[in-house]
This record gives sequence, structure tokens and C-alpha cells, in this order.
Amino acid sequence: MARMPGAEWHPVRNYTADGQDEVRGVVVHIMAGTLDGTQGWFNNPTAQASSHFGTGKGGALRQWVDTDDRAWAQSAGNRTWLSVENEGVGGDALTEQQLDDNAAVLAWAHEHHGVPLRLATGPNDEGLGYHAMGGSAWGGHTSCPGPRIVAQLPEIVARAKRLVAGPTQEEDDMPTPLEIWNYRNKNAKGKIPDAYGYLTKTAGQVDKVDDKVDALTTQVAALTRAVATLTDLVKKG
Ligand SMILES: [Zn+2]
Repeated sequence: MARMPGAEWHPVRNYTADGQDEVRGVVVHIMAGTLDGTQGWFNNPTAQASSHFGTGKGGALRQWVDTDDRAWAQSAGNRTWLSVENEGVGGDALTEQQLDDNAAVLAWAHEHHGVPLRLATGPNDEGLGYHAMGGSAWGGHTSCPGPRIVAQLPEIVARAKRLVAGPTQEEDDMPTPLEIWNYRNKNAKGKIPDAYGYLTKTAGQVDKVDDKVDALTTQVAALTRAVATLTDLVKKG
């Protein structure tokens, strides 16, 4: 059993159980219809058609056939390739969401079935392919998925690579000491660095502290004189 996490599981009637001999790659299709309409068609036994996955223009990703089972999307290519049907009509380009969803399927096929993250050159190669590349053996669908989507296939591979790589930690994210200094100064508004370099007090606040120190020093001096005077009086007494 091989179902992709992140894809909505909507099993359809049309498939061959345990019919997937191997997985060389993922084949991109265009529906000539809507996501729901295509799902209905794949549940109609007379259609004799299905695909493993389907995308909607607005960002829906569905899995219709388990990838251990054979979907019926590209004739002689069914036993060895997975299939993705994309909502739209011939001549359309894939939406941003569809590019992301196709990339997610390719990335999952890479991790689960070992599909290489590159463009396939033909039915005997591996990677990301498209329906028309199979020629008459794959049903002769020369306009599926159409030249605009074929031109987008490298972008799907690039996005799948980013998904597999995961978030990258960029080492130059760390600010330099100069950047930290400039950041503090930008927010300082006349503040003076403390012993740790943090700008916490304004010049005016520092002046007030200095004034208090001066006043205390004066008081201490006066008290010292008073003590001296009293000491003299006690000695004379
Ligand atoms: Zn097709």
C-alpha cells in the first residue's frame, strides 16, 4: 500500500490491483476538465481511465489510485509510470499551486519509489515525464499536456529538489558585530553604551546620575566635617 501523505485519498473504481510492475517516474497530464468531473469519470467503469493523482487549479491534491496499483492513464506506460492529471484544458499552463502539488508528488515518488529528480528523456528513462513523450505506444496523445506545461517541467523538478532538501540554514544569516552596533545605534536616540555595549540610558539620564553622585559626595564631606568638629569638642570637654 502506498498512499502519499498530504494528498486527499479519494479512491476510484478504475484501476488494476497490484498492477504496478515498477515506478520509473511520474507522467504529467492535462485533464480537459475539472478535478471533480475527472474524478467522476474515473469512477465510471465505461471510461476505462484513471490516474494515480489529480490536482486542482486552486491547490487541491488528490490521490485516486494507490501507487501499488496500476492506473489507466497512458496505455503501455501504465505498468511502469505513475500519473498526475491536472485540472485545465489543452493549452493551459499549470498554476503556482499545481506546480507545487506536482513537485510534491515527484518529491514523494523520489523518497518512496526512488524516482530520480530530473527530466525523463523518454519512456525507457526515469524521472519526470509527460504523456506525449510516449508517442503512439502511450495512446498518441500528442497534445497532452501541451507545450506550455512541458516548458514548466524543469520548474517542477527544481521545486521537488527544494522539498527534498528541506529548509537550508544560511550561514551568513548571523549579523556581524558592525551590524549589531549599527542596529543598536539606529535605535539608540542619544543613548550611551553601558559596560556591555547596550544602549540603555540617554545622556540626560547619565547627567542626573552624575548630579546625584555630586550631591552625595557633598553630603559625605559635610558629615565628615561635622564628625571632626564633634570629636574636637569631646576632646576639649
Ligand atoms: Zn494525458
